[in-house]
Amino acid sequence: MKDISDFNLKHHNTFGIDVKCRRFIEFDSVDELLQVVNSLTDVDKPILVLGGGSNMLFTSDFNGTVLHSAIKGHVAVKTDEGIMLRCGSGEIWDDIVSLCVSNRMYGAENLSLIPGEVGATAVQNIGAYGAEVKDLIIKVEAVDLQTGKLCEFTNEDCEYAYRKSKFKGEWRNRFVITYVTYKLSDEFCPCIEYGNIRSELDKRNIVTPTAEQLRNVIIDIRNAKLPDPKVEGNAGSFFMNPVVPKSKYEELVAQYGNIPHYTVDNGLEKIPAGWMIEQCGWKGKSLGKAGVHSRQALVLVNRGGAEGRDVVALCEAVKHDVKDKFGINIMPEVNII
Ligand SMILES: Cc1cc2nc3c(=O)[nH]c(=O)nc-3n(C[C@H](O)[C@H](O)[C@H](O)COP(=O)(O)OP(=O)(O)OC[C@H]3O[C@@H](n4cnc5c(N)ncnc54)[C@H](O)[C@@H]3O)c2cc1C
Repeated sequence: MKDISDFNLKHHNTFGIDVKCRRFIEFDSVDELLQVVNSLTDVDKPILVLGGGSNMLFTSDFNGTVLHSAIKGHVAVKTDEGIMLRCGSGEIWDDIVSLCVSNRMYGAENLSLIPGEVGATAVQNIGAYGAEVKDLIIKVEAVDLQTGKLCEFTNEDCEYAYRKSKFKGEWRNRFVITYVTYKLSDEFCPCIEYGNIRSELDKRNIVTPTAEQLRNVIIDIRNAKLPDPKVEGNAGSFFMNPVVPKSKYEELVAQYGNIPHYTVDNGLEKIPAGWMIEQCGWKGKSLGKAGVHSRQALVLVNRGGAEGRDVVALCEAVKHDVKDKFGINIMPEVNII
């Protein structure tokens, strides 16, 4: 276990914001976590659970205790319903996807290369290329910071929706996730009709991809489109794609012609926030030391030495212009601390 005072978090958030926390505790097991949780007092508060920091924006030093899971390991059990893979919350998510693909456990390929750790997948309901982790999650194990007790949640308990869960809402900052169990399949059913997956496969003359080929295509698309946080600090998509009533979408089509959209259901349409940001002229632009990425307008980046408040100022300016032009409020996906 690590227990360090006055700890620098610059290498624990992918925006690369240079901030500190008063105390940083990293635990390797559920027993260690239980000991820690039951020894915390009011002096240690507030508490923040941090994964890989790839969806966090720190706006100042954190004057409290950061808890980080280093619980590792995974166990796969084959059942009549599928392969149940129980993973420690401190495992790197993409290592798990890679492990699945190499061991004929299918269903996670489209979520390849999403940064971060297993614990956060259950909080964030990560998603990409037509897949969401909520469709794989069977069970979430956690320790309750209020009672110091172990608890378990089913998928339904977590109330998953687009980039949302009860852990992000009513249960915010209450539970420390220790293990997540995913249900995978031994049958590979590729999901390739989303974004440019199909055209990338065509370029490689692949008609029916293997899981490895699909994973590689997803990795290549992501690497071509998204900035590497090691080179330019960022937290992936900064904003959520807004879901609007069909009537609002039709109003926008009348004004702007055929705009990109995904039909959520008969009454609702999802509009790509990145497209709207681009239409507002922000793509590639900077405000102080923060900027909008030049290849993907949904991503805000640290141009070098930015503070959290520089990114927040840019976020507000972008939100204002999108509201002004399209009448739509876009909301940050990133956790602003
Ligand atoms: C380049 C880039 C690309 C990205 N692409 C995508 C994408 O395609 N799709 C997508 O959905 N996301 C994407 N993201 C966002 C990010 O990868 C996910 O949100 C990821 O799940 C965050 O994981 P993390 O471990 O870094 O969590 P953190 O950012 O550290 O934390 C995120 C939230 O989870 C909570 N949390 C973390 N661990 C635990 C735990 N053990 N117990 C309880 N709560 C916990 C935190 O308190 C916080 O509320 C991207 C980010 C980057 C930098």
